[in-house]
Amino acid sequence: MNESPPLSQRLPSVDAILRSATGSLAVVRYGHGATVNAIRRVLDAARQGARAAAIGGPDKEAVAKAALDLIEREDMPSVRRVFNLTGTVLHTNLGRAVLPETAIEAAVQAMRQPIALEFDVATGKRGERDDHVRGLVCELTGAEDACIVNNNAGAVLLVLNTLSPGRDAIVSRGELIEIGGAFRLPDIMARAGARLVEIGTTNRTHLRDYEAALGDGAGMILKAHTSNYLIQGFTKSVPPAELSALARARNVPFVHDLGSGALSDLKRYGLRPEPTVRESLAEGADIVTFSGDKLLGGPQAGLIAGRKDLIARIAKNPMKRALRMDKIRLAALEAILKLYRDPDRLSETLPTLRFLVRPAEEMAALAARLRDPLAAAVGEGYAVDVAECASQIGSGALPLEVLSSAGIAITPAARKGAGTQLEALAAAFRALPVPVIGHIKDGALRFDLRCLDDETGFLGQLSRLHVDRRPPE
Ligand SMILES: *Cc1c(COP(=O)(O)O)cnc(C)c1O
Repeated sequence: MNESPPLSQRLPSVDAILRSATGSLAVVRYGHGATVNAIRRVLDAARQGARAAAIGGPDKEAVAKAALDLIEREDMPSVRRVFNLTGTVLHTNLGRAVLPETAIEAAVQAMRQPIALEFDVATGKRGERDDHVRGLVCELTGAEDACIVNNNAGAVLLVLNTLSPGRDAIVSRGELIEIGGAFRLPDIMARAGARLVEIGTTNRTHLRDYEAALGDGAGMILKAHTSNYLIQGFTKSVPPAELSALARARNVPFVHDLGSGALSDLKRYGLRPEPTVRESLAEGADIVTFSGDKLLGGPQAGLIAGRKDLIARIAKNPMKRALRMDKIRLAALEAILKLYRDPDRLSETLPTLRFLVRPAEEMAALAARLRDPLAAAVGEGYAVDVAECASQIGSGALPLEVLSSAGIAITPAARKGAGTQLEALAAAFRALPVPVIGHIKDGALRFDLRCLDDETGFLGQLSRLHVDRRPPE
């Protein structure tokens, strides 16, 4: 009988592994502590595995390699670049708007050196951080004044807490919105200390409903843009101009949460119009709130524009300090807003708009070029076709609007086990160095090419696609 020595004697020691070629390399790259830690974890796993499988002890070079792999895997940035081929241009889970170089440079400057963030260079006195964009927002929207916070959820919270604490905020039932990521208007109101007064019904709210609700305790009339759904059929809502007249007559502020907040008229770029901030203010909104990273195409931000006296109160609320914008995004936002001064070139200079107006022929030509390389990469088990796609703007802008687009549909050749095969294929694309994110629909893995602007990078990594070529069970 051939008794092998106990496993602990067969496994190399931590010291021996550290002294191996790969072990030393790992120490140079990641330090002694991290390397020892990884080696211990690999040895532990080997002991566990060996107990189950009765394998022999691995040699020290193999353990060192496994440890180095482990450190490298865990050292990869968690905030990773991906290819957004979902067809949703402003995808909240993929970071919404991507920024143009001018904004990126401004952000980098703000990170690299001290900046005059709250400092007036001319007078040497203290300045205001919002001043860097206040004038621009007013210029682009016609607002008297503006203030900036972290995101639009923060903007709504701050406005409610300033103008309506302990008082009624009157909202139509049809507008009690939930935006993804747990932004629910009723919950925000409760946290802001405002009393929610729901009026009307889900499908119909009349001016008389507002009139009846406006009592002594009224703090504001709030209109929320129903950004991610549409109520159709037998419906009635009160136009902003009428709400504003009523609010004025009763001396309460009229607040319009626009959400997406287009700064320029989308019609001029051939898209369906979305209410602009300027229009909303012109219709008499006292305060308008909107996001920086939706249709505006900038960094995450919440913009509050409107009446000077109200903005002054909002800016003085101690909560403003807790919700203030950071310097990096503020620098990027300033650069983005400046692009809006030249609306003729905005569809080239602002990536969000460039993607939205990208002609379907361009995506079709791109799809035709990518078809063969993709077919070669996925192998014989799949049909790879150029396909028509319908992109969406996303992030609650024009929820029912689809933009005709083109892309690739990959369909398993065998019907049996096709669902599992598709999931595995989608996972293989996600496992690429730059994960490729598409979506599965109608029995195919689909890649909408509207947002693909790095064709070379996309093709360059296809050789690393690992598709399981075994036929399904
Ligand atoms: C998106 C949206 C919000 C939340 O804005 P964030 O910038 O995501 O915080 C609030 N209200 C409306 C109407 C929205 O569309």
